[in-house]
Order: sequence, then structure tokens, then C-alpha cells
Amino acid sequence: MAKAIIWQVDPLTPAPEIIERAAGILRSGGLVAFPTETVYGLGADAFNPAAVAGIFRVKGRPADNPLILHVADREMVYRLAVRVNEPAGRLMEVFWPGPLTLVLPRRKEVPPAVSAGLETVAVRMPAHQVALDLIRAAGVPVAAPSANLSGRPSPTTAAHVWEDLGEDIDAILDAGPAGIGVESTVVDLTAPVPVVLRPGGVTMEELSAFIGEVRIDSLAEGGSAGTGKNGDSYEKPRSPGLKYRHYAPRASLILVEGDPREVPAKVRELADLKRAGGLKVGILASAESAGSYRQGNVVVAGSRQCPEQIAARLYSALRYFDELSVDVIIAEGVEPAGLGLAVMNRLRRAAAEIIRN
Ligand code: AMP
Ligand code: MG
Repeated sequence: MAKAIIWQVDPLTPAPEIIERAAGILRSGGLVAFPTETVYGLGADAFNPAAVAGIFRVKGRPADNPLILHVADREMVYRLAVRVNEPAGRLMEVFWPGPLTLVLPRRKEVPPAVSAGLETVAVRMPAHQVALDLIRAAGVPVAAPSANLSGRPSPTTAAHVWEDLGEDIDAILDAGPAGIGVESTVVDLTAPVPVVLRPGGVTMEELSAFIGEVRIDSLAEGGSAGTGKNGDSYEKPRSPGLKYRHYAPRASLILVEGDPREVPAKVRELADLKRAGGLKVGILASAESAGSYRQGNVVVAGSRQCPEQIAARLYSALRYFDELSVDVIIAEGVEPAGLGLAVMNRLRRAAAEIIRN
């Protein structure tokens, strides 16, 4: 396939003629990458099985990892889901458009490949004008995973999309960097108590403020497969995507968790050890301790007090370390609260090794 066309669009008032051309590509079965408030997505017409197959092919995505379907209005949800129960309706009311994906019972008209054969479907209304205009103009729900090669860090800029998929897709809508920087929260509403399958842009704290008890799948926390927080065990991961190593840079990542007063010394010790072994080391540091790392290749992710900042920079930092060709990345952990939970989930799943102080 020829290289993708890149269209620059205004994030708030995208030109209708560009949106129309991109929507035309989707309607005719092509693949268009577009910005959302979380990360860039790779879109295809959800009702076109050949287009959906194209997503799996170009990303190298395992066929058992289902896609999120993006909608521009409630009417589209009813073309995808058999039922919207009371908590689901409330969550849509409060958090849509926004970084929240709801897992609902699937209508049989939805091509099975979209949901990797599951009886459910994952649906989200993104809070980005370009995404909403594109979906509306296409007139169909848009299947869109993150627009990266499978296993690589998700793209937060059009340049990241180009790097991974520029040769294999039809177009990229470039509206500048994505705001939140980590993916949506995925919550399963088909269980008796809603279960967060993947932490993301909407926090656990925000969710439970509106629907009361919410559980978290143990895999979603970055722990081991098999048992939930409350001891209930699952036959298999409920969100199949969670069983794959993910979000990973090419270098191997060592995550150092624990007391923030002790983490920097441990990071220094590890960095010295790796350097002595002849490896090129990168350090993903908090603003608070960046000054204590004297040698090069230090990227400041942001303040530990502000997980939003760290989330927004996380993936581009991981890609930057690849540009520097470091062999090892040593990353400081953050407190797994608020958006910090999503950050830690991504770091734990990118990590080759986790050190708990
Ligand atoms: P991505 O769009 O690449 O960021 O990944 C989408 C995430 O949503 C993956 O973790 C999937 O496993 C999850 N997902 C999509 N559809 C479903 C579904 N029907 N049930 C459970 N998880 C889903
Ligand atoms: Mg992804």
C-alpha cells in the first residue's frame, strides 16, 4: 500500500471537507488514524469485516484481542449493544463523551471478529471534536484500537502513528498531541458488580462516586492472572488484551516501586550496575528526584504530585528512549491512585522486571 496521506486539522474546528474525505475512506473500507483525547486510534468501519481484518493485520494484533467501537451518539450504541442497563446509562450520562469504555452485551449484527468472538462489545464516545466529527460523517460506529504496532507504546502524536503504520494505512488526521496520554478506562457492566478491566482516563475514585461499588480485575492492576482482589477467580482473563505484554519500548524496562524516599538511591545503584556491564541506560524520573541522577539520558516524566502530567508524557518518553537507543530503561514508580493507577498499570505491563523496595 502507498504511504498514508497526512491531513493537519484544527483540534477544535476541523475543516469539514477534510473530515468528509477521511469519512469517505472509512465508508469504502479503508483505515484512518485519528486523534482522541486519550491516544491516537486506528479506525475502520465496525460493520465491514474486511476493514476490521485490516486493523488486525496492519497492527499485528492477535485475533483474540477485541476492539473498542467508537460512537458519536446514543443511537449508535443501540446498533451495537442489546441492552444498556441502569449503571451503564448513568456512566454514559456522566462520563461521555470521555475516556470511559463500557463493555455491554453484543448485538449479533456486529461482526464477531470485532469482539474476538466474545458475547460482549466494548463501546466509547471519545471527547475529541475531530473524532466525533469523523464518526458522525462516516455514519457508522468506528472500530479503533490504539494506532500503534501491537506491543509498542500507544501513539500520542501523529508522528508516532507514522513511525509505526505510515506505510500500511490510508490516512492520518493530525490534530497535535493527545491530551490525556493513556487509554480509556474499560469497565465491564455485564457482571453483577461492575468490574474495571483496564484502568485509564476515568479513575476508580470517579467511577465509584457515581455507581457505588466497583471492582478491579487483578490483571488490570498489573498483578498476576487468575484471581481478583476479593479472591474470586476467573477462568480466563475477562479483557483478553490484558494477558499480553504491552506498551513496551524496545529497550528492557526495570520498574522500581516503593517508598519515594528510597527509590532514587535504588535507581542510581541499578543504573551504575548496568553501566558497569557496558549497557546504555535511560532513566524515567520524577521531577522531584531528577536532579539526583547525574549521568545522561534522564527524561523527566513529571511531578509525582501530578499523575496527569506523567500520563501525558509517558508514551512519548518510552519512544524517545528508543530513539536514543538505550539498552535499559530504569523507571521510577508512582503512587497507584487517581490517574497514577493507569500509569502504574502501563509501566508494570511494559516492565521486564519489577523491583519492590
Ligand atoms: P486498545 O484499543 O488497543 O487500547 O485495546 C482495547 C482494550 O479493550 C483491550 O484491553 C481489550 O481487551 C479491551 N476490550 C475490547 N473489547 C472488549 C470486550 N468485549 N470485553 C472485554 N474487553 C474488551
Ligand atoms: Mg492498544
